[in-house]
Amino acid sequence: MRSIRTRIAVTFIAISVLVIALLGVLLSYEIERYFFDRLLSGLRTETNVIHSLLQDWTVRGESRDNVEKDLTVMSLAARMRITLIDSSGVVVYDSSVPDSLLGGLENHSQRPEVVEARQKGTGSNVRTSKSINQDLVYVAQKVAVPSAAVFRNLQFVRVSVELTEVNRVMYEIRFKIVVGSIVILLVVLMASRIVSRRLTSSLTEIAEMVKEIKAGNLDQKLPVRSNDEIGRLAELINEMTDKLKADIEQLKKLERVRSEFLGNVSHELRTPIFSLKGFLETLLEGALDDAAVNRRFVEKAYHHANRLDILLTDLIEISRIESGEMKMSFRYVDAVSILKNLIADFSDAAAKRKQNLLIDAPDHDVLVLGDKDRLRQALGNLVDNAIKYSPEGATTTVRLMESERSVTISIADSGPGIESVHLPRIFERFYRVDKTRSRDVGGTGLGLAIVKHIIEAHSSKISVTSEVGKGTTFAFDLNK
Ligand code: ADP
Repeated sequence: MRSIRTRIAVTFIAISVLVIALLGVLLSYEIERYFFDRLLSGLRTETNVIHSLLQDWTVRGESRDNVEKDLTVMSLAARMRITLIDSSGVVVYDSSVPDSLLGGLENHSQRPEVVEARQKGTGSNVRTSKSINQDLVYVAQKVAVPSAAVFRNLQFVRVSVELTEVNRVMYEIRFKIVVGSIVILLVVLMASRIVSRRLTSSLTEIAEMVKEIKAGNLDQKLPVRSNDEIGRLAELINEMTDKLKADIEQLKKLERVRSEFLGNVSHELRTPIFSLKGFLETLLEGALDDAAVNRRFVEKAYHHANRLDILLTDLIEISRIESGEMKMSFRYVDAVSILKNLIADFSDAAAKRKQNLLIDAPDHDVLVLGDKDRLRQALGNLVDNAIKYSPEGATTTVRLMESERSVTISIADSGPGIESVHLPRIFERFYRVDKTRSRDVGGTGLGLAIVKHIIEAHSSKISVTSEVGKGTTFAFDLNK
């Protein structure tokens, strides 16, 4: 695996090597050229000085001996070789060759610096001297000295020095450049390691965390250490785990609700089935032939079968609502006539319990937006409860109050009321304040849950206020 760390290090080093090599070559080349130029111009000055001295000596009529002595002193002091060459290329003086041996020297007219000086006035050349086997730099200058001079027909003054000095300095500079480059490379290497370690350690951490998430462990949080892409990634992963955790929590809750519901349903079904079975068994075991009880027992069996039917109807209803299978169909409907029909439907039930059922609504039509059948069902459940749970002589009032854009429908009874601790829970499925009482009056515990669903499907909310001993009022708004 080519890790990010290696890739970063390789990139860092490649770039640095390239930059350092380029800089090193350019720098040493420039420095060398600078030194060499300075050397050449220094040598040129020397030739000029010698030229003027020669003119001076000539004017003063110095002897050849004195002139040569002075030249030799100069050459020793400046550590350079001085050569004087006449117009035909013959060496007439050389600071490093005694006069007696001058005759044995080669003719110098073809020396490159002399050839160049003849054409341009001044010339230079670098070469290895055959006589001393050293790199030498030569500078020659064409001169004009009066014919009466010490050296007859003198035409070129040439000086030369060993290149060793330049070479030595250049060697030192190159050495420093190389050492500097190695130091820079080491620094770059360290920097690249630090950078890549930081980068990869965060990434490794993130990878470890993702592994944990994969294994189902969502309780960890990644530290967000930087404000860059990696920090953002860590942040996103944290947000993702939070979201996942919430989703899983939600799923677990749903699962709990579902199994709770299933448990409730089984429990609810069990009671009537148990009773039904009991009566039928008693009948089969002989009660059928007992004219004194058989009819009563069959009636009881029928009653429980009926309860089962009601329960199943409500269950189917609520599961259709909750699964979203039941679609509402909204129309403009007259709320007043719905309430009037409601009163008519329940007048018998109220009369049977010696209760009053009143309506308080305008005389004219009041159109509201809603699903007529569903509204009827919800209102029916509320009125049914009001009558069921209220004692004889109680009064239930169904009221419609109009405002500009909406209407408020309320069902108020003068029944026993509901203790405030129960109020927030009465809309839950199967929640009953008094279980036996509810069963006695044929309740399933699902009525208010269905009401709540229907009202909420109308983008409204059902509210309840109650006072123990005084009565209960349910109310909700509908849009006109
Ligand atoms: P149930 O089928 O048991 O009536 P509901 O969901 O309709 O179920 O009502 C839940 C519980 O709220 C009832 O069991 C009852 O205890 C209480 N309740 C509902 N309406 C009234 C009311 N008008 N007066 C007093 N108690 C009520």
